[in-house]
Parts: sequence; C-alpha cells; structure tokens
Amino acid sequence: MTTKASSAYLNYFRNIGIAAHIDAGKTTTTERILYYTGRTHNIGEVHDGAATMDWMEQERERGITITAAATTAKWKRSGTDQEYVVNIIDTPGHVDFTIEVERSMRVLDGAVAVFDSSQGVEPQSETVWRQADRYGVPRIAFSNKMDKTGASFELVLSDIRERLGAIPAPIQYPMGQESDFRGIIDIVRMQAHTYTNDLGTDITVGEVPAEFADKVAEMRAQLIEAAAEVDEAVMEKYLSGEEPTVEELVSALRKGTIEKKIFPVLCGSALKNKGVQLLLDAVIDYLPSPLEVPAIRGIVEDSEDTRDFPADPEGQLAALAFKIMADPYVGRLTFVRIYSGTMSSGSYVYNASKNKRERVGRLLKMHANSREEVTELRAGELGAVIGLKDSGTGNTLIGDGDDHVLLESIDVPEPVIKLAIEPKTKADQEKMGVGLSRLAEEDPTFRVETDQESGQTTIAGMGELHLEILVDRLKREYKVDANVGAPQVAFRETITRPVDVEGKFVRQSGGRGQFGHVKIKAEPLEPGAGFIFENAIVGGTVPREYVGPAQ
Ligand code: GDP
Repeated sequence: MTTKASSAYLNYFRNIGIAAHIDAGKTTTTERILYYTGRTHNIGEVHDGAATMDWMEQERERGITITAAATTAKWKRSGTDQEYVVNIIDTPGHVDFTIEVERSMRVLDGAVAVFDSSQGVEPQSETVWRQADRYGVPRIAFSNKMDKTGASFELVLSDIRERLGAIPAPIQYPMGQESDFRGIIDIVRMQAHTYTNDLGTDITVGEVPAEFADKVAEMRAQLIEAAAEVDEAVMEKYLSGEEPTVEELVSALRKGTIEKKIFPVLCGSALKNKGVQLLLDAVIDYLPSPLEVPAIRGIVEDSEDTRDFPADPEGQLAALAFKIMADPYVGRLTFVRIYSGTMSSGSYVYNASKNKRERVGRLLKMHANSREEVTELRAGELGAVIGLKDSGTGNTLIGDGDDHVLLESIDVPEPVIKLAIEPKTKADQEKMGVGLSRLAEEDPTFRVETDQESGQTTIAGMGELHLEILVDRLKREYKVDANVGAPQVAFRETITRPVDVEGKFVRQSGGRGQFGHVKIKAEPLEPGAGFIFENAIVGGTVPREYVGPAQ
C-alpha cells in the first residue's frame, strides 16, 4: 500500500479493543497494558511486590480512566526504538451492554479477544466474536489465566476451532500450565521467555527447553503452512523446502490476520504479569494500522452515491461520534473517531445526522491517569470533544460545508425488556424525567416513554441488569429514588424452529436478531431439533446439545 507522506504517522498507530466474556480478565489485562505502556522505560525500577501493588491500589482509588471510551497509550516495540500509539477502546463484557460493544467495534481497527483458559470459549466470548465478524475486525486471541487450576491452552485452541469456526494460529506455547506455568515459548522466533517472579520484571529469554522442543517444532511447521496459504513468498520457500525468515513469517501472518484468515493465539497470565509485554508486541506485529483497513464509506443522502474517506489528515473532515459521557468536571464529553481530515478546537463541524452546524469547543486525549488538552485530532485518532451539544452516538460529523454524507453508523438493537418506573417521592417526577432523558441520550438502547393518558413512565432496555444499573445511576447521579414494576417482556413470540448451527436463534420479527437474554418457557425439543420459544425474550445462545442443522 502506498502511503501519503502526510499519513505516514499512522503506520505507528493501533486502534484496538479488548473483548471478552465477563470475568475472563479483560480489566486485569487492560490494567497491565496501561501499566506497561505507562512504564515502558522504567519497568526495571520496580523492585518488589509492594511497589507494584501500591501503584495498582492508588490507581484504583483515584479511579483509573479505563472507563474512558478511548484511552491513548504508547508502546515501544520490544527490541526496537520505534514507539507506537495504541488507542484502547473500551468494550464492556456483559451481554446487556451489547450496544457498547457494537459502537466500539465500529471505531476500532483490530481487537484482542481474551479467553479464560480454564473455561475456553464462553457464550459471551462467542457473541463478541460474531460482532467482530460482522464489523470485519481482525483479531488476535489471548488465552489468559494460564496459571489457574484447570487452565488448558489446548482447550482454548480447540474451542476457537469448534465453537467459533475460526482457524487458530498459535504463535506461542505455554511452558507448564496451572501452578506450574512458568513461561512462554515464542514459536515464531523459537525463544523461551521464562518468568522467575510474579511481577513480570524478571524475565530471561533463552533457547526452547528440550522437553518442549518436539512439540513446538511441530507447531512451527503448522504455522509456516498456515502462513504459506496466505503469502506467496512464504509459499515459494515452503514448496522448495526452505524455512522463511522470521521477518517473512511475521509479515505473512500479519497479512493473514488483517485479511481475517488467520487468528494468532497467545497465552499468559495477566494477573501474574506473564505475557502482557509479548501481547503488546503482537498488537504491533499483527493488528492493522488505520491505513491497512478499508476506508470508511459515506452514503450521500438522497442519492445512490457513496464516498470513501481514506485516512488522510489533509482530506475532508469525517468523524463519527461513538459515545456520549457525562463528566463530573467538564460536562458532556463526545468521544469521536476521526476517519479523515483534522478536527480543530474552536472550529465548526456539520452534524449530517442531525442537519446542524455545531461548534467544537475543546479537544481531549484521555490517558490512563491524565487527560491532555490538544488543539487538533487528526485522521486515525480518537479523543473526546467538549462543547458539542447536539451530537449523539452514531452521528456523522463533516467538515467544509453542509455535506449530507452519512458514515456507516452503529447498529442499534431494539430493547427487549420494559419496566414501569415512578419516583418514590411525587415531587421528584420532573427531576426523574430530566435524569432519564439524559441517560437515554448517552445510551441508544435505553428508551423512555410516558403514556399520555395515564402519565405512566416506562423504561426499556437490553436486560434486567442493564435497567438495574440505569435506575441506580438515576439515584446516584440525579438523586432520584425510584420504584420499578415487574419486568414486562417487550417482545412475545411463539416460535417453533430449530436453531442454526451456531446455536444462535435470531429473532424473526423486528429486523435484526439480537443476542439478549433467552428465557425459555417451553420445553426443548429433542436434542438437535430445536426449541419451542414461547412468551420468550428471544435471541441468545442455546445450549449446545440442542443445536440443530441450519434451515
Ligand atoms: P473482566 O470481568 O473480564 O474484566 O475480568 P477481571 O479482569 O475483573 O478478572 C476477573 C477475575 O479473574 C478477577 O478476580 C481477577 O483477579 C482474575 N484474573 C484475571 N486475570 C487472571 C489470571 O491471569 N490468572 C488468574 N488466576 N486470575 C486472573
């Protein structure tokens, strides 16, 4: 790919998300990544456990900003002097927050899928994986918790193959598992990284120990075969019986990963600080820069025309607002991804979704424990805007003129559950209305309706937990204590139909299927034949033994 000189900085950018089933270790992995990226240059100065834990605890107390929709970190690829910008886009793990995952998928270029190696591929990891498929996101997998009882790297590999139908390409192999987990073999470079303490500070890199030599040699041969499938140079060497160089192998695997034909798999223990630096190196080595993903497409309103916006800071500004957050210090923050052009503080942008011109106030980049005010955000960058009053999640922001171009936006699923809500104190009625409508502004899957005749307010969302959290936020942030009624199912359907091969049942009415809670009231049919869904909130993962052939 030829790169315009002005876009060259983007070769050193990675916009990634970390996706996982709840409890797989996403938070721990993200914390460790932020730790290492913040401390790249002086990690050796951390001498004992106390120092590391102090840092972690302090951060916890201060409230680490990993709750920011996008956090900017820097990482120097090990063994080189090249520094990379790694923007980490937050992706919540709970199924009730599927919209949050959707919006991050839209704005990231690559993802790290974290698995609990004692559990393999869990239902929510499967949901997230499918979402990444839908958005065409290249990804690498991290088999976390290798130190935990029951941990098995092989389980994760076979689950990726069988449950996700993807071809895993293990680029690492664990030295020991469970309490015996002591290091990681880099299969690409044939090096063994041995960790002699739990802080990840004492690492020796050496030859592959004899006990693993045969196993790893066999895995490397398979890796080369997989690389040959996607790269001609490696294929030629493979056919002539010659080994590719490390650089050739990495470059072929990178190509296969970006084309979503290969999914590199790594292992480690985030909690015990094993494998996180290698994971960061793999993010650099295998996940795409903003220049290596297809340009975002805009649809010119009222026409069949489309326009592509390649990542170029000198092009026309095209950005997507992907999250609105209330901030205690500065008010409303609108997180944006800039696809093309440059957004400057104090400038005007055209919100093509709302048909309004808006003024960009200040611009911020969020770091792990600080925020940096900047004067501009360039193509490929992510940050937060203060001052946009009307922009909502999924809105297109365009520069130079009132161009009616809408960027491919975010799929918003329909809510599946409803509750009646009323304030405990009548006098709070109006305050409740304000609070609810602000919350709905932040979260497009959260809806508020008031019946004109009865005056009854109902809230609708993606699941009980989703609504519970919003009712709790109403209390904490808006000081309104409210009573809620029993959940009402938003969609009632009686359907008899075998589920498809993947075990997903897609809702038949109301457009796209969604994977909310499944509440099965009826008996399952015979294994393989499907379910009778009756008065159910439909959509979700069905127990594997009942999965039948696709119809
Ligand atoms: P999240 O829900 O995916 O964000 O998961 P967390 O990062 O909060 O981790 C869930 C639990 O697993 C916590 O108790 C962590 O301490 C634990 N955990 C995370 N990583 C590891 C690991 O590598 N090994 C072990 N044994 N436990 C881990």
